[in-house]
Amino acid sequence: TELSAVWPARVTIDLDAIRDNVRALRDRVGGAELMAVVKADAYGHGLVPSARAALAGGACALGVAQPAEALLLRAAEIQAPILTWLVAPGVDLAPLVDADVEVAAATPWALEELARVARELGRPATTQLKVDTGLARNGASAIPLKKGDARTDWTDLVDLAARLQAEGSVRTRGVFTHFAYADAPLHPTVRGQQEAFADAVAVAERAGLDLEVRHMSNSAATLTTPEAAWDMVRPGLAVYGLSPVPDLGSPADYGLRPAMRVSASVVVAKRIPAGQGVSYGHTYAPERETTVVDVPLGYADGVPRHASGTGPVLVGGQRRTVSGRVCMDQFVVDVGDLDVQVGDEVVLFGAGADGEPTAQDWADAAGTISYEIVTRLGPRVPRVYV
Ligand code: PLP
Repeated sequence: TELSAVWPARVTIDLDAIRDNVRALRDRVGGAELMAVVKADAYGHGLVPSARAALAGGACALGVAQPAEALLLRAAEIQAPILTWLVAPGVDLAPLVDADVEVAAATPWALEELARVARELGRPATTQLKVDTGLARNGASAIPLKKGDARTDWTDLVDLAARLQAEGSVRTRGVFTHFAYADAPLHPTVRGQQEAFADAVAVAERAGLDLEVRHMSNSAATLTTPEAAWDMVRPGLAVYGLSPVPDLGSPADYGLRPAMRVSASVVVAKRIPAGQGVSYGHTYAPERETTVVDVPLGYADGVPRHASGTGPVLVGGQRRTVSGRVCMDQFVVDVGDLDVQVGDEVVLFGAGADGEPTAQDWADAAGTISYEIVTRLGPRVPRVYV
């Protein structure tokens, strides 16, 4: 907020929206718990304030990709259970075990390393095992290489986890997986992964692992496939009030409210003659004399250059589009004969009220998904919390 005094653009975050979205998501899945995914600086919304808001809304745990993100949450004295699921060889796990962070394991080396650190520190580590049921990404594969094979990477990982549980070094608190097609709920893999996960959970339970939580649902599954909720859901995008399935429903259809609003103040407003090319490469030129305004946000701030000529804004109470190319720090908008003055507000996106574009509109304009629009907002734009 101090920076915002000298910065002509801002990202305003409505923390009550994050809190209310978590409540709405929990209502959708009845008795299941909710782990709020706050990786990538809480999808650009600010790690610590967003995590606190999600916990205030009833999240029982936090999920992050990178271990460093978990430690930042602990440094802010957040006590809730935290799971980190992208551990690379060579990363020192001791600070994580020391800070009671749950380190997900998808491979034997990660579990062995966790056990080694636990023995060294003289305290048990906690893990959740990640099983690959069909995304073919991170996770121990539960898919047999040959039909009928009884042994898989998953059965090997579970056996190791059972040995480490007996030894007392690593406790396996949960088992989880991730969907490939949750945004297409009728896709056959959605049912197939649910069945494969049920089998994988049974393998872990038969091996005697003392599981407290089993979870597979990201935002799309939480919204469209509530029967996959198990003990806990693990949404990210929906926590921030965006829909991962824009063709199936808007945030409002799911009782969600976008938390982020991106706006800037006009720094130059001037008349230019008919035919004058605008911005690099002159990809746009007005047919008539017009007013153009300069908006101090560019691709270095996360405004996609792919939205040159298409990105929507609200200015002077009207919808307009980016005119010509998005530059590193600024872009130009032809506002015609609208009365727009230096200092007036230009809204790139927000909750969508009163003609405001949404993050989804920017995703459509840039040929991407709303995830990329919010997570790529540059760190130099101040976040203002309301
Ligand atoms: N769980 C895992 C393992 C993830 O990698 C992610 C994000 O990609 C999520 C949950 C949250 O996904 P979404 O933002 O689609 O809800």
